[in-house]
Amino acid sequence: MTAKLIKGTEIREQILEEITAEVAEIKAKYGKVPGLVTILVGSNPASISYVTLKIQTAHRVGFKEVQDNQPPDISEAALLALIDKYNKDDSINGILVQLPLPKHIDEKKVLNAIDPDKDVDGFHPVNVGRLMIGGSEVKYPPCTPAGIQELIVRAGVETKGAEVVVVGRSNIVGKPIANMMVQKGPGANATVTIVHTGTRDLASHCKRADILIVAAGVPDLVKPEWIKPGACVIDVGVNRVGEKISEKTGKKVAILKGDVDFDRAKEIAGYITPVPGGVGPMTITMLMKNTLKSLKFGLGIA
Ligand code: NAD
Repeated sequence: MTAKLIKGTEIREQILEEITAEVAEIKAKYGKVPGLVTILVGSNPASISYVTLKIQTAHRVGFKEVQDNQPPDISEAALLALIDKYNKDDSINGILVQLPLPKHIDEKKVLNAIDPDKDVDGFHPVNVGRLMIGGSEVKYPPCTPAGIQELIVRAGVETKGAEVVVVGRSNIVGKPIANMMVQKGPGANATVTIVHTGTRDLASHCKRADILIVAAGVPDLVKPEWIKPGACVIDVGVNRVGEKISEKTGKKVAILKGDVDFDRAKEIAGYITPVPGGVGPMTITMLMKNTLKSLKFGLGIA
């Protein structure tokens, strides 16, 4: 069998079009657009490229985007004061602080200073709690897990009653996606198992999975023989395994590999995400969705 490819790049385009249309509609009716501020401290090249992509996407869907670049030696107090300013600014619905921050700043303190109602990344403990409660309590599901769920739903994979196995227990992917899939509701209602470095027999759990979500950061960790025939395999892993010269630009680029042996797994799975081009494009897309949601909460139309 050859698996159906779940193409994140195509699903991203669909969702961004839906967001653009909704933003235009809200603007016409209420005279408001979602406002997103991106705070970048210093000039880490990887951070600059992530922030640039977020800004470009926000512009594309019609948001107000504020790019706030701060010097690397900004004090913690000054950064906290800046966040407080945006917390109070009615034209801003989402606040992003690009990580990592310089060593003299306590990241946790900074992230926890963001108003939970503007925490569109969904990492504030209040939003983690809301996610745990589920249902209408959930405001901003964290972006990568939200993207994973969206891929599963849009691929038409049944989740109700499905055996879901999540490989990895990080706070940004493994734990939240497991929590989301176990909730009672559409796109969830599954029986969920989390496996991790402490698990005795990884293979036996993976073999039971109707939906296997792998977020370990270990290239080719999941072997094809661990995959149940016809299963939906979501490969979150992004591992740099070498470099090559890009045919398009002639520049050196990283060779990326997922956590699943894709070439062999696609002959067994029913659905599979490629790396790159699967989960990756969904994270920023869901960030836009959360920011739009924040404006809608404010307008009482969410
Ligand atoms: P992490 O390192 O914080 O967590 C990895 C988890 O995998 C840990 O809980 C660990 O217990 C588990 N694990 C590691 N090796 C294992 C093994 N041999 N057997 C069983 N479990 C094992 O990583 P993370 O932040 O959750 O990210 C995981 C992967 O997903 C990385 O490759 C990362 O680059 C990628 N990622 C992609 C996106 C995206 O595409 N948008 C977003 C976030 C993370």
